[in-house]
Amino acid sequence: MNGKFADFVNKKDKKLLLAVIIAAVAVVTAAAVAAGIFFGRRSEKPATAPTADLAVQLSLLTDVSSSDVMITKYYVYGNHLHLEGEVDGAEYPDFSRMGLILRKDDGSEKEITLDCSRNDFGTVFFRSSEYINGGICLDELAEGDFCVLFKIVDGGRKVYTSAAALYDFEAVNYYTVTKNGENRLVNLGFTAYSTGSGILPCLAIKIEKAALPGDVYDIVLDAGHGSGDSGAVYNGHNESDLTIDYAKALKKELESLGLKVKMTREGNEKNGTMTGSAAYSKGGRVEKACLSGAKYCFSIHFNSISGNKKTTAHGFQIYCPCGSDISFAKSVADNVVKTAGTDYSPQEFSRVAPGVYIRTFGKNGVENSKKIAKSYGYEPYDAIKENTTFYYMIRETGGVATGAYIDGRSREFGFNENESRNSVTGLESYLIEIGYICNETDLANILTNRDAYVQAIAAAIAKELGITAK
Ligand SMILES: [Zn+2]
Repeated sequence: MNGKFADFVNKKDKKLLLAVIIAAVAVVTAAAVAAGIFFGRRSEKPATAPTADLAVQLSLLTDVSSSDVMITKYYVYGNHLHLEGEVDGAEYPDFSRMGLILRKDDGSEKEITLDCSRNDFGTVFFRSSEYINGGICLDELAEGDFCVLFKIVDGGRKVYTSAAALYDFEAVNYYTVTKNGENRLVNLGFTAYSTGSGILPCLAIKIEKAALPGDVYDIVLDAGHGSGDSGAVYNGHNESDLTIDYAKALKKELESLGLKVKMTREGNEKNGTMTGSAAYSKGGRVEKACLSGAKYCFSIHFNSISGNKKTTAHGFQIYCPCGSDISFAKSVADNVVKTAGTDYSPQEFSRVAPGVYIRTFGKNGVENSKKIAKSYGYEPYDAIKENTTFYYMIRETGGVATGAYIDGRSREFGFNENESRNSVTGLESYLIEIGYICNETDLANILTNRDAYVQAIAAAIAKELGITAK
């Protein structure tokens, strides 16, 4: 342990606890690195130590403070790495800002500005983005070996510090989205590196070219309903048949862009296997998506409504996860409306932009979920808050990023649990309501203009991922 540690422990109790955790993490991780257990949880080629180049760069770090930064939240959602954490502000009375530094093995640094706030006790809270789908885009990082440092600007001084993790976060093996037939494997893990300032706990990132394994995909398409559940029905048209038809056409379109696509169902699945509580069990649509290694998931649906709104309800909707940057969803909605002969849905409930929606549980939903828990005799899910994402295909495929919670206590969910609910890797998931099959104009357009709809959606996805159409 370096000399700083002795001064460090005499401060406040909170700081002492932090220091003890850091010391423990440093010792355990140093041993773990030696044993090679931190990296490569599912990787064939575990990265157990920094490359010689990074080791040289790390030995040059003589001015790095031994971790004043504690990372409290860490996940990969879609293709972004999201970090949150805190710093005891006592050391930084004139704190002004903080940046995340990616130090590469060639000595270069990339700085990412952090979103920071400070409470009355001086603790600084930071996050890589205010959005769950923002932060550090893993697809945009170059190949190489990186360590994550933080730069704290305090008055006239700049302090470099490494970061420890509050929890034993699992390592992540992330495959980048396929571009020009190529992929990179991004290995993320908390470790301890020997530097010129002593052994420092830090988040390490190793990126190398790699072939996409057979069971890893870019995108999941979930054709809504099926396996005995027809969804909406109107004049002999079943939503479950339309969703399969659209999902298959969209799959073809995305594959022509070089993307690898997994479907949650093909239309030949057994009754009851995909819907309701079975969605979370083995082979259910949630599990299929969660195990796909894909970065995005799109659930395709068609709307219907009864009562007096039946004649006026129409148009396109895309539902986003709560806490997400909606610019991508907005471009999907705009593209569809511009080229597929339809309109934005006039529905105001949950709307955040024309055609773009974020539906959460809200106050009533939370109360309702408590009532259901009581009636079935299990503890209410404390994970359900007013701003918890309502649609399960968005929420349950996102892991910790979206507050997935199905844990198998409930008869309502068939006592099935979502085994990926605590995962630090989540799919960025959207639910698309193409149009209203109970509206004659929408229905005619849906039946005759499918290719325009799917081409508009695929074009927005290509633009988001930086893929140019062939
Ligand atoms: Zn539906």
